[in-house]
Amino acid sequence: MRVGILGGGQLGWMTILEGRKLGFEFLVLDKNPNSPASRIADRWFPPEKVEEFRELCDVITAEFEHVEEEVLEKVSEKMRPRAELILMKRSRVEEKKTLFRLGYPLPRFVWGTGSELKEMVNLIGPPVVVKRDSMGYDGKGQWRVSSVKEVKGLGEDEKFVVEEFVDFEAEVSVIGVRDMWGNIRTFPLTENHHSDGILLHNRTRTTPEVEREAVELVKSLMEDLKVVGLLAVELFLTRNGKLLINEVAPRPHNTGHYTLDGTETSQFENLLRAVCGLPLGSTRLKTPAGMVNILGLDLEDFSPEEILKIEGAKLYWYGKEKRPRRKMGHVNVVGRSEEEVSVKIKKVLSLLYPKETKKS
Ligand code: ADP
Repeated sequence: MRVGILGGGQLGWMTILEGRKLGFEFLVLDKNPNSPASRIADRWFPPEKVEEFRELCDVITAEFEHVEEEVLEKVSEKMRPRAELILMKRSRVEEKKTLFRLGYPLPRFVWGTGSELKEMVNLIGPPVVVKRDSMGYDGKGQWRVSSVKEVKGLGEDEKFVVEEFVDFEAEVSVIGVRDMWGNIRTFPLTENHHSDGILLHNRTRTTPEVEREAVELVKSLMEDLKVVGLLAVELFLTRNGKLLINEVAPRPHNTGHYTLDGTETSQFENLLRAVCGLPLGSTRLKTPAGMVNILGLDLEDFSPEEILKIEGAKLYWYGKEKRPRRKMGHVNVVGRSEEEVSVKIKKVLSLLYPKETKKS
C-alpha cells in the first residue's frame, strides 16, 4: 500500500514511523524537503508535483489543514478523510457554522469582519476571545478581550470569530477513529493543559460520566461528518459540568501523542488502518499515560539523559529548526496510576523548563 500524506510535520513523521511496521510505503507532499516527515518518507514531492504524487498514491491523507486549495482539489478523489473536512478545518467560521448547524454544544459565538468587531464584542459581552478565521494554530491569531476599547488595529475586511470566554473547570479531548464501513473506536479521554494557547502537557483522566458524554458526542459527530480516519474533539468542561466543543480536527492530534505508549494501538496506526481498509486496532488504555511538549528548546538546552532516567519516559525528537515556542519534540510518560503519571509530568516539566516551574 502506498500512502500519500499532505504535510511534512511531526504528525506525518509519527504516522510514517508507525506505518513502517505494517509495511506501507510513504509519499509526502510538502514545500520543505527537510521537514520531519519529508526526511523519512520513501519519496518527497513539492506542491508543484502534486499530479505525479496523486498518480503514485493508493490513498492520500492529511496531517495538516493549511494545504493550498488547488492542491486539495487535485487530490480529492483519493482523499481519506474527505477533502471537504480539511477545507472546513481551514476556516474557524466554517467549522463553527457546521457544528452549530448540526446542533452540537459550542461556546456562544458570532462571526463577521474586522470593521464589525466592536459590535460583535458587545453582542457576546466581554470577556470574549477574538479569533482570526484562518491560519490560526497553537494560540496564534487569537486574543482575550475584556473591554471593547482593546479592539483595534485588526484588518477591516478580515474575517473573525468572537466567542464567549469560557471559565472552564478543565479542558479535555477525545479522539475517535472511523473506518470505511462505519465502525468506530474512541481513545481514552485526556485532560489538557495549555500555556498561552499552546498545549503544554496532558494525561489520561478517569471521569466516567464526562467520558461517556464526550464519547457519544465524538461518535455522533464522526457519523454526521462521515469521517474516514481520525477526528479529535477538544472540549471545555464548564464549572457546571457541561461539555462545549472548542475545536475539532480531522487528523492526528497533539493530545493523542500519549497513545504511542499508552494504548494498545496508537492514533497514527489506527489512522492508517482506517484509511487503508484494515480492521481497527484496540484503543484500550494499557496503563495511565501522559505527555509533555518540548517547546522552543534544542537538545542542548536540556538534558535528554535526565529525562530518559525517569522510569517509563520516552523521548520523541522531531529534528526541526529551533524557533521560540515551536513544538520541537515531546516526552511520553506512563505510570501505574494517574497520580504517578502526574508526578512524572511535573518532573519532566522541571527538567525542561526549570525557570518557569520554579516560579509557579
Ligand atoms: P488553536 O487553534 O490556536 O489551538 P484554540 O481555539 O484551540 O486555538 O485555543 C487555544 C487555547 O486557548 C484553548 O485550548 C484554550 O486554552 C484557550 N481558549 C480558546 N478559546 C477559549 C474560550 N472561548 N474560552 C476560554 N479559553 C479559550
